[in-house]
Amino acid sequence: MNYPQTFDVIVVGGGHAGTEAALAAARMGAQTLLLTHNIETLGAMSCNPSIGGIGKGHLVKEVDALGGAMAIATDEAGIQFRILNGSKGPAVRATRAQADRVLYKAAIRRRLENQPNLWLFQQAVDDLLIEGDRVVGAVTQVGIAFRGRTVVLTAGTFLDGRIHVGLDNYQAGRAGDPPAVSLSARLKELKLPQARLKTGTPPRLDGRTIDFSQCEEQPGDLEPVPVFSFMGRASMHPRQVPCWITHTNARTHDIIRGGFDRSPMFTGKIEGVGPRYCPSVEDKINRFAGKESHQIFLEPEGLDTHEIYPNGISTSLPFDVQYELVRSMKGLENAHILRPGYAIEYDYFDPRALKSSFETRDVPGLFFAGQINGTTGYEEAAAQGLFAGINAALQCRQLDGRADDFGGSWLPRRDEAYLGVLVDDLITKGITEPYRMFTSRAEYRLQLREDNADMRLTETGRALGVVDDAQWDAFSRKRDAVSRETERLKSTWVNPRNLPAEESVRVLGKAIEHEHNLFDLLRRPDVGYASLMSLDGGKHVSIDVSRETLGELAAPVIEQVEIAAKYSGYIDRQRDEVERSAHYESFKLPPDLDYLQIPALSIEVRQKLQKHRPDTLGQAGRISGVTPAAISLLLIHLKKGG
Ligand code: FAD
Repeated sequence: MNYPQTFDVIVVGGGHAGTEAALAAARMGAQTLLLTHNIETLGAMSCNPSIGGIGKGHLVKEVDALGGAMAIATDEAGIQFRILNGSKGPAVRATRAQADRVLYKAAIRRRLENQPNLWLFQQAVDDLLIEGDRVVGAVTQVGIAFRGRTVVLTAGTFLDGRIHVGLDNYQAGRAGDPPAVSLSARLKELKLPQARLKTGTPPRLDGRTIDFSQCEEQPGDLEPVPVFSFMGRASMHPRQVPCWITHTNARTHDIIRGGFDRSPMFTGKIEGVGPRYCPSVEDKINRFAGKESHQIFLEPEGLDTHEIYPNGISTSLPFDVQYELVRSMKGLENAHILRPGYAIEYDYFDPRALKSSFETRDVPGLFFAGQINGTTGYEEAAAQGLFAGINAALQCRQLDGRADDFGGSWLPRRDEAYLGVLVDDLITKGITEPYRMFTSRAEYRLQLREDNADMRLTETGRALGVVDDAQWDAFSRKRDAVSRETERLKSTWVNPRNLPAEESVRVLGKAIEHEHNLFDLLRRPDVGYASLMSLDGGKHVSIDVSRETLGELAAPVIEQVEIAAKYSGYIDRQRDEVERSAHYESFKLPPDLDYLQIPALSIEVRQKLQKHRPDTLGQAGRISGVTPAAISLLLIHLKKGG
């Protein structure tokens, strides 16, 4: 059957990429269809129920600043919140939450079901409709043909997915879900460059059979409990619970080594490359043979279940080895395994074959996002989904001839967002192992903090149409309060003649010798906003007490003002650096340039540029093997009008 309605954007897959893609496109007014295997698994977490962490938390805040669902759903579902790197600089501070997986799915589904312009449909997609070279829709398992002007594919680990437990293996998209085999075959026919990756998950345990008294308790941050979303409140959180820690030991390691000859990883059954930063326990024991013990976090999967996720023992060893290795650890001597651990191999597509909007170069209208682009992680998937959803909707606007400021696509710069870093890394460098976000990937990380994601992105999000009125109002109030408070501090002067020496020593550590404004004083390493304000409101400085004037905005506003003051030197220097490289970064390369005919470049560089066809000189410089010298030669060639 041909479904009667034509959609602007069809999203295939209801995981973290697909749900954000569908929500973003629909928020922008695109008539959007989300086609997925099973409505019950919308927003399902395939692996551990936790969101955020260093680098990943930054992405979640950016998704949130652009009106996405992940952060606010985590606020509604989070059962433990922590700020990681809390004692380090603000650039690397990151929020991490343990979520109740049932509450999380419900929070995502509620948003999807209540989103105007969005339709949900449960069916496996087996085929794509292609006319000429352009995608025009998708066909489901029972032959329903949905027409759409763009299609965003977010099939995660499902394309030709194969699960491994020991030497046994079978086809699946993840445990309990079917694989996408026909769609994988169809994509192979399109000859888009692809290969295999793998990832794994640990066995899950029944908490009633764990002796927690033998484990170390790990509570979350309780005073105050962090929130993820800029629109979130701690009062949204359900009950908070602790996690627990146990350790592997020499016996555990012996048991694991004893299973190596039946490991699909070591016997060559698995060919796909796995995530280096989230290795299986057998990989850890093999690679770090000298390490006597590894920490294992026992994380609750929810409030209404006894299921525990033992973080650190992801494995595809045979079940009998899993059983023994679990029971070799303190507190787990009688642990019952509820679900075996496994590894999964799946198809991914070389992201270098994508344009900087995530549209495939070879099939106009077809966008890829999430794990199928070679990444790993919910947060990386959500960020890509939101990005692809925005770009698919922008393309529809352009097809309609509707003018906007974006000209048919949008990509944040590397100095604007981790999202920009993620997309740029993927399309210019590709991947050799599952890609995950780290703060070290961002060269301008002092600017790309969690705390200022809204300041960096919400205005653009509003212009794109993904930020609703409530979020925009809240953001505008915060932005204005930050600017008012900064101005107030800059225009409030403290004169040593009016400030008794003992008061100066109490607040500032020493007597001041000449007049300073409050903003300058706040730049001093030992002077905090709160202590500075204790100078205020009294006889020394006559001005309103800002805590009262800022009302409930006080904490986030003060945070912004304080960071701006404390790091102003570094931030200004970084801004100068960005400005210096901006011209080179955004220098547009002609789309029809024949790199093979540029004699000044080596054959290798010519071939790489011809293959990847970067949009800008900045992107060209990040393609591996394209040296700064080659970039200078390319620039000279272009300036000569070559
Ligand atoms: P998914 O969450 O996989 O969602 C894909 C969606 O598409 C599903 O809803 C599926 O039903 C649907 N779908 C697929 N094909 C079709 C089709 N043909 N028709 C209709 N619907 C379709 N990440 C980490 O960061 N660390 C880890 O340790 C880790 N371990 C993992 C272990 C396992 C076993 C698995 C399966 C995943 C693991 N992940 C891990 C990855 C994490 O789950 C993914 O990064 C994330 O879920 C990717 O999101 P996604 O939206 O791209 O895809």
